[in-house]
Amino acid sequence: MRWLRGLVFIGFVGLLVPVAIYTTQQYVVSDHLVALFLRVHLWLPPTLAFEHFVVFLLVLSLLALIAVLAGCGALLGFVQTRHSLLSQKVLRHAAVTQQETDRLKEQQGGQCEQLRLMAQTLAKRMDKRVLIQAILEAASRMTSGAPANSVVSLWALHFETDTLRFEQGLYCDESLFVKTEFQLTEQPFAQVLTTQKTSVIPKWDEKFGLLKTDRASRLGSTTGVMIVPMVIEGSVLGVLVIFCHPNVLKSYEEGQSFFDAVWGQLTLALAIAVQGEVAILDRLTGVHNREYFMKRLIQEIERANRYRLPLSLLMIDIDNFKLVNDMLGHQQGDAVLKIIAKLIKREARAIDLIGRYGGEEFVIMLPETGYGGQGSMSTGAYLVAERIRNAIDEEFHGFQKPLNLTISIGVSVRRYPEDREVDFQELIRQADEQLYQAKATGKNKVCMLIRETPQVTS
Ligand code: GH3
Ligand code: MG
Ligand code: MG
Repeated sequence: MRWLRGLVFIGFVGLLVPVAIYTTQQYVVSDHLVALFLRVHLWLPPTLAFEHFVVFLLVLSLLALIAVLAGCGALLGFVQTRHSLLSQKVLRHAAVTQQETDRLKEQQGGQCEQLRLMAQTLAKRMDKRVLIQAILEAASRMTSGAPANSVVSLWALHFETDTLRFEQGLYCDESLFVKTEFQLTEQPFAQVLTTQKTSVIPKWDEKFGLLKTDRASRLGSTTGVMIVPMVIEGSVLGVLVIFCHPNVLKSYEEGQSFFDAVWGQLTLALAIAVQGEVAILDRLTGVHNREYFMKRLIQEIERANRYRLPLSLLMIDIDNFKLVNDMLGHQQGDAVLKIIAKLIKREARAIDLIGRYGGEEFVIMLPETGYGGQGSMSTGAYLVAERIRNAIDEEFHGFQKPLNLTISIGVSVRRYPEDREVDFQELIRQADEQLYQAKATGKNKVCMLIRETPQVTS
């Protein structure tokens, strides 16, 4: 093609030169051209005539024209090439974007499937230990990578003691940790419990303070740590401590929403796992809640009838508790409630059932307990009540005046067969009446109903 173009060009020039010579002979050329010839002819060879000069000029202009055209062609070519390159790039980019979108879709699809399977697996297991094992396995699956499997442990919140306790581990046991019970204000858990947000530590060191340093070498390349709070309705149920490869932490940051969904599922599973306990306990004090207490009271009355046993009920109310709230604040009030619940638990017997009846009121059911052998005030239910009252009086003795934290207790006893018609409501009503009596006659005392005649002691 190139030689053809060359031939055409030579032919064109060959034709143009005679035409130019003929034209200059035929027409009068401009004065400017003549003036130019006169000015430059001294430097030109003497043999060069005016006609040749004009032809030379014409050829020169032609060459210039060709050069301009060639330039334009080249420019056009360049622009076209650029454009096509650009289009290719755009197309390539579009293809990459499409691939990426497909990959993400596939990944998301995979993740959703994983999440669905996990939820299904978790939902099938109801036994606490099995369920917690499934939670640990799911957390490990989500955070294990090619270099290393993650090491997971679950720490459960015990609200009656305000501590986080080691519950179960996967690829580890409690011997890996400096201790198995942490106060909620202790690091490394305090921050996670306060913010209720996952904490990511790329590399733990001695300051981390959870691991026994001599055992920590077992963790190998799993030097990253994730501490995941398991939060349900604003309350932390527990914490997952996940030791994983630092690469996993990067993917965690990229796919945080997916991980959050996973933690949500695992928290639900944990809620199911501890449901038995959560459903029957009062969240503030850790004693049984009112619903559970009532259920058990009804059952125990039936049992008492069946086995011909006595049963007693203690109704406890903190004296002047409003003052505690007013003077020290509601939070301090809560703290006092917890202490009192703990003291009641300490003083009650293992077979007694303690419940939180209302705000600052507790109830205790004493199975197989009546007035006692001889003298109703020295044994049996009265004795237990008096021991509890005394323990609290002593504990808060010298407590900030004028608070004098004490409790009043009303006791009702259900004997068999004499009181077999007394149902749980009546038993509660009688204990409540005795409590009122204790309050009305000076507080910090126990009142007990003996048959139909209330007797008061202090
Ligand atoms: P009394 O000796 O007659 O029992 O006097 P009181 O001040 O204890 O009076 P009352 O039993 O009527 O007051 C109960 C107070 O307990 C009122 C309420 O603000 C407080 N309270 C109830 N539940 C809670 C709780 O969960 N936390 C705190 N901090 N205070 C509570
Ligand atoms: Mg009250
Ligand atoms: Mg009170």
